Amino acid sequence: MKTLLRIAIQKSGRLQEESLALLKETGLSFSNGKDQLKAQASNFPVEVLFLRDDDIPQYVEDHVADVGIVGENVFIEKQKKNTLVRRLGFAKCRLSIAVPRSENYGGAKSLEGKNIATSYPVIVQSFLKKNNITAGIHEISGSVEIAPGIGLADAICDIVSTGSTLLSNGLKEVEVVMQSEAVIISNSKLEKVKQDILDNLLFRIEAVKSAKNNKYILLNCPNEAIPKITSMIPGMNSPTIMPLAKSGWSSLHSVVNEDDFWEKIDLLKSFGAQGILVIPIEKMIA
Ligand code: ATP
Ligand code: ZN
Repeated sequence: MKTLLRIAIQKSGRLQEESLALLKETGLSFSNGKDQLKAQASNFPVEVLFLRDDDIPQYVEDHVADVGIVGENVFIEKQKKNTLVRRLGFAKCRLSIAVPRSENYGGAKSLEGKNIATSYPVIVQSFLKKNNITAGIHEISGSVEIAPGIGLADAICDIVSTGSTLLSNGLKEVEVVMQSEAVIISNSKLEKVKQDILDNLLFRIEAVKSAKNNKYILLNCPNEAIPKITSMIPGMNSPTIMPLAKSGWSSLHSVVNEDDFWEKIDLLKSFGAQGILVIPIEKMIA
């Protein structure tokens, strides 16, 4: 039987959609939907298992799955013998400590002797230890933000993205304990065939991710400006330059990074670039 790489992703929740979308963008196609427990790609040796995200690190350690996509927070909290393979850039959030808004908070030391409700006892404990604080940890699995309001705890440590949940529960964020995003984890001892499949998949993910971070750019410029523009947008190797019918002018094609895109456009214009076109890239292989 053909070896399949088993990838565990969240069955339902915040990670589900983007995890599946990522796999599909790498060219994997699945015939059965996400209602099943698993789905096999028809064109790549991969099988996807749909599981509760909190269980994924354990399943990966136990070889039930070979690889998983989870929040970094869950990876750290579970302390399983897995390897963090790659950060994925989605499901970005932070794990923060929050206290009642009315409280006069004077730094981490204010938590001394308090009771902190959280679903992340391991992460909170290590934060307390690092800050030399002794506090009680009250582990609860959901609706952590209501704990101070019902007298269950003095503070909480929970996931924050916009802070609106904290606000509506009368809490304020006082310490960021960790930053998190979706990550790929793998069993630390993958057999060679599986490691090869994973490497191939990572190669494809790289291509998808760098394509998203870059744009294809076409512009017209006077020939004198070519050296300056080339050093500014060298692209993947060096730009393509084609003469325009109008003498003394060229068309220049290159790749530009999304991050410094607007800054570069202004500079390009000042060098005499005109008719600038910017086009999305689907896949990019260096
Ligand atoms: P359950 O396991 O009960 O479904 P959960 O909190 O573990 O609940 P989700 O809410 O789907 O599941 O969150 C999954 C992961 O997504 C979290 O572990 C975290 O890494 C990330 N995450 C959670 N909330 C946010 C948010 N508001 N914005 C961005 N990422 C988030
Ligand atoms: Zn969960």
